[in-house]
Amino acid sequence: MKKYIFLCFLFTVLLLTLAFKFPTSNTFPLFGRLIILDPGHGSLDPGSVYKDVYEKDYNLEFATTLKAELEKLGATVLMTRSGDYDLSNPSSASRKRTDFNNRIKLINDNNPDLYLSLHMNSLSNTTYYGGQVFYSKVNDQNEIIAEELQNNLNKFFKLDRDYKKIGNDKYMFNKIKVRGVLIEYGFITNYKDRKNLKEQTYRENLSKIISQSLINYFT
Ligand SMILES: [Zn+2]
Repeated sequence: MKKYIFLCFLFTVLLLTLAFKFPTSNTFPLFGRLIILDPGHGSLDPGSVYKDVYEKDYNLEFATTLKAELEKLGATVLMTRSGDYDLSNPSSASRKRTDFNNRIKLINDNNPDLYLSLHMNSLSNTTYYGGQVFYSKVNDQNEIIAEELQNNLNKFFKLDRDYKKIGNDKYMFNKIKVRGVLIEYGFITNYKDRKNLKEQTYRENLSKIISQSLINYFT
């Protein structure tokens, strides 16, 4: 009997130790998830340009903030670039195509739980603002992820915008086999989006909306 009580005691101690030692799904809901963030453009490719503002710089800044938010929730995060460079082969005649090919390879080879490509929208009508999600039909989970993200972005931006299917002309996204989407998280042509996205707190709040959408999707 004494031995039995002792074993029960040991077992309880072991359970408590494990509970404190290992993250629970409540405290780190993205624990064990590998997410790849793909800030678009870089180096000689500025992306969309508005006056002296380059999309490539916004993409990197936003991806860096989103990475930190996802890591706080337990995720492991890889970025396709972490500085002002792209992934092209400079000697190649088709620089842009090799940049796309290397991003595709990096994402497919690492086989993440999910990838997010981050870009900014650009329109001649400068009143358009806020986020929009684009998905490729190459993976049947992509539309579900796009819908979840768009719903939450619409609440954040107070918009009623539809998520959209990526056309066949978008070379890169139709070649990424793992699940994920493209988020245009703002308009570079809109004054408020440009100003807001320069604020760390705003970027964090927007990152929290995106992170929560991923938690909702995974659970
Ligand atoms: Zn772009």
